[in-house]
Amino acid sequence: MKKIHCTLYILICLFTLFTQKIIAQTLPTHWEELTASDWDKALQASNRTCILPIGILEKHGPHVPIGSDLIRVRAYAELATKKEYAVVFPEYYFGQINEAKHQPGVFALQERVVWDMLEATCNEIARNGFKKIIIINGHGGNPELIRYFIQTRLEQPHDYAVYFFEPHSDSSFLKELKALHQSPINEDMHAGENETSELLYLRPDLVKMDSAKNESGKNLSRWHIPNVYTAIWWYADFPNHYAGEGNKATPALGKLLVQHVVNQLTNAIKDIKADNTTIPLQNEFYNRVRK
Ligand SMILES: [Zn+2]
Repeated sequence: MKKIHCTLYILICLFTLFTQKIIAQTLPTHWEELTASDWDKALQASNRTCILPIGILEKHGPHVPIGSDLIRVRAYAELATKKEYAVVFPEYYFGQINEAKHQPGVFALQERVVWDMLEATCNEIARNGFKKIIIINGHGGNPELIRYFIQTRLEQPHDYAVYFFEPHSDSSFLKELKALHQSPINEDMHAGENETSELLYLRPDLVKMDSAKNESGKNLSRWHIPNVYTAIWWYADFPNHYAGEGNKATPALGKLLVQHVVNQLTNAIKDIKADNTTIPLQNEFYNRVRK
């Protein structure tokens, strides 16, 4: 009897997975491209999982676009959801970017607006039926905001969980990276060889390689107090919003970097869709908090 139950259970699981795959192949992944009549199908195929790619509008040296971080995270989401279905929220570029306000094209909303936007956006995503929200971030000034926001989901009961995707390097990837990378790796950050390469791979039409040496991406090292953090550190070191040598970028390096992130993201989406632990644990926690 037990064996029959077990076989039946496996068959039901396989059938559910199979139908999810069939539905997912014909459904758009972009929120704005879905029809209202397909909404429930999208909830089912994604297992109520929505990706919120967060970018920023900020100067990226003299040669790559202001929306580079947004372009990159949206591409990661687009490529990963081709392999593992989830719904992707529309363009979102509201984050912490005060340190770039002296540069053209920077969109820096007030702190409370940034916070309220993030909270209201996640609440609205959840109200529409998604219980798992995956944040992918493309901008170096955002992680503190995102982590604090996620931690504050425990302040009041929420019927959804927010997951922060954080890709990591392993030794085989680093070996491949070192084989292609030409400038000093530890000095390669904002609009440098890596980021420029990703843009060259994803949107070569927007990269102006001829201008990459028009400004310096050198660290000016104007501020240093050991073991101390302060807000002006980035401006002190990189007032041009350029850190590294974008002129050394290649599409081949960009392909390696993008594929590395997309592979990890695809696995993270799979794991999060299958996750049956986070939300029950959150609920257990909320119930134990003294009212
Ligand atoms: Zn960037």
